[in-house]
Amino acid sequence: MVASSVLGFPRIGANREVKKAVEAYWAGKISADQLTQAAADVRKASWQSVKSKGVDYVPSGEFSLYDHVLDHATAFNVVPKRYVGHGLSPLDVYFAMGRGRQADGVDVPASEMKKWFDSNYHYVVPEFAEDTDFQLKFNKAVEEYNDAKALGIETRPVVLGPITFLWLGKPSKEARPGFQPISLLQKLLPVYKKLLSDLKAAGAEWVQIDEPVLVLDQAAHFEKEFTTAYAELAPVAPKIMLTTYFNRLDSNLKFVAKLPVAGLHIDLDRAPEQLDATLEAVKATDLVLSLGVVSGRNIWKTDFEAAIKLGQKAVDVLGQDRVIIATSSSLLHTPVTLESEKKLTEEQKDWFSFALEKTAEVSTIAKVLSGSQDAAVAQALEANKTSIAKRREFERNSDDAVRKRVAAITPDQLERRSPFAVRQEVQKKKLDLPKFPTTTIGSFPQTKEIRQARAKLGKNEITEEAYEDFLKKEIDSVVRFQEKAGLDLLVHGEPERNDMVQYFGELLNGFVFTQNGWVQSYGSRYVRPPIIVSDVSRPGPMTVKWSSYAQSITQKPMKGMLTGPVTILNWSFPRADISRELQSKQLALALRDEVIDLEKAGIQAIQVDEPAIREGLPLRRVDWDHYLQWAVDSFKLATAGVTDALQTHSHFCYSDFDDIFPSIQRLDADVISIEASKSDMKLLKTFKQYGYSNQIGPGVYDIHSPRVPGEQEIKDRVSAMLEILPDSLLFVNPDCGLKTRGWKETEASLNNLVAAARWARGTY
Ligand code: GLN
Ligand code: ZN
Repeated sequence: MVASSVLGFPRIGANREVKKAVEAYWAGKISADQLTQAAADVRKASWQSVKSKGVDYVPSGEFSLYDHVLDHATAFNVVPKRYVGHGLSPLDVYFAMGRGRQADGVDVPASEMKKWFDSNYHYVVPEFAEDTDFQLKFNKAVEEYNDAKALGIETRPVVLGPITFLWLGKPSKEARPGFQPISLLQKLLPVYKKLLSDLKAAGAEWVQIDEPVLVLDQAAHFEKEFTTAYAELAPVAPKIMLTTYFNRLDSNLKFVAKLPVAGLHIDLDRAPEQLDATLEAVKATDLVLSLGVVSGRNIWKTDFEAAIKLGQKAVDVLGQDRVIIATSSSLLHTPVTLESEKKLTEEQKDWFSFALEKTAEVSTIAKVLSGSQDAAVAQALEANKTSIAKRREFERNSDDAVRKRVAAITPDQLERRSPFAVRQEVQKKKLDLPKFPTTTIGSFPQTKEIRQARAKLGKNEITEEAYEDFLKKEIDSVVRFQEKAGLDLLVHGEPERNDMVQYFGELLNGFVFTQNGWVQSYGSRYVRPPIIVSDVSRPGPMTVKWSSYAQSITQKPMKGMLTGPVTILNWSFPRADISRELQSKQLALALRDEVIDLEKAGIQAIQVDEPAIREGLPLRRVDWDHYLQWAVDSFKLATAGVTDALQTHSHFCYSDFDDIFPSIQRLDADVISIEASKSDMKLLKTFKQYGYSNQIGPGVYDIHSPRVPGEQEIKDRVSAMLEILPDSLLFVNPDCGLKTRGWKETEASLNNLVAAARWARGTY
């Protein structure tokens, strides 16, 4: 029999119960016991849902109140010293690590967060040092396994693997220079042994050990660590399903296939091409192979025929009992269920599968491969065939004009008319900006009033006209403020935007939106990504009205503000039937038209934000060049359709450019703004070393905190910057947009920023 499995279920609850409970606990509205109960209810509901769909291996232990890496770290006593000794309960220490804590005399910042591989999920980075004292503080895997068992549900517990755990971490401040977390492996293994042997004693037949690090180039250096670790763990553990996801094993397969584990899971959604090599490598062993054919990363219905083909290939080589049909990764990255979508049309609903629907899919595919004669299975197979055919038909009849336009893109469309040095002279005359021009990144505080007005419009409590009047007044006051503060290049403040991606998605053809399609981004922050369902085009101008209104009320130049193609793509659920490259180019063409329209409307500077360009980098280095080629081309396509006089800006929320400098230069934006207030000047030195030639606005203060930077502090930063960068290239601006800030600190901070720039003009 071919079995089925789910590697992890969303842990937010069908109606965001976990967010609600966690935030209520933080606000002191419910007790720790009530929170624990709410979490137990959600786990129970998830187990029952997965079970009810007929899945053989139901996951447990992957639930989390905040982040599964944080759970794992606290269970193993990996708690940085700054969180200890405040008299907090373990639960409050846990949350303090996740989000910081500032109450009752305790003042500790949150631990660092990082992106979970190439997803939009963020984990809390564990901190290690030579003296890290691993202990098994609690055995979450056993506890949740037992809870499920008590409900009559046999589960396969999920545990984060030791090598990935250490790899995800960083040296703590106390660690000696050069310390590498992986050096702790021998100290860590006894604790894993305890965890796993307890699990075995509790009756677990299998355990899923996640080692996603195996799909990275770096894992090649860890062959020895993997070999020792699993040789020690396998004898005491339940049968180990060594689980990889998000990419291919490539050459790591050589040592992975020899590890003493009982099963191996590979991601065939991201990397179907690895099936053949994997079959070849495991066929002479007795490993069970788990095939991730149902995507844990997208929201599309699985094409059963294609999945069955892959599954059958494996069955032919290994036999039914050595094949499992699974989700490609945890379903954490997908919304809970389509059942809560009331506004999608029947046609649209038929395209999608969310977590619950995917759960049914693995079960059906496994049954088909087992040769089931069940009528319900035959019916599901038939229904899938019809749905997929309809979707393919829709895809074929998508927008031909858009496809033709993409196919007709020529290299000259990617290039500005003149080189930067020429443009800079033209722009100097046109925009008449002073030396060290001051500007902001786009958004101003999104006040309660703004959110209320938007909510009222959504509920039809105010008219479209009343809403627009309200927005104009907002723009008026933001413009007046900037004039008074003495900023040079103004912005309209983005009051009309609910979100920098959703706003554009709603104005473009080709997107649909869910009502309840929430996925966890980090902690209690969930996002509802738009879905790209067909070819993307722009029915009409999207921002011209706002930008030209803002320009009409001031003599100062106004900067138009757009979200870039790569960022829109990355923060949406993309189509699976055409490449990301093609979707990005379609978005770029739509934005190109917008940029050209903005220039026609008299706007002289336009910023196209691309904070997601770096996070879109593929996991494997060999895939970088191809990605960077089309990602940078997309930005250029969006921005190059203007005259030399138009000053293009781009913004990135980060500054780790070391390995992608040539691509940043190739964007050829006239000005880029980057995060720089927290980093030392090393970053700018690298810019200089690299010979970056266009203008740069390294953020002079951190907007992520309400703290107001002093005037002297900003002067010092500007001075330090000017020691490295030529006068002619420096812009003065904050690190990022101001939407999460209050007005009070915004005013004070920007006044100091302008004062510092004025001082610099007199001094340098
Ligand atoms: N223009 C956007 C803003 O200011 C940029 C946001 C971002 O980079 N994440 O809010
Ligand atoms: Zn930013």
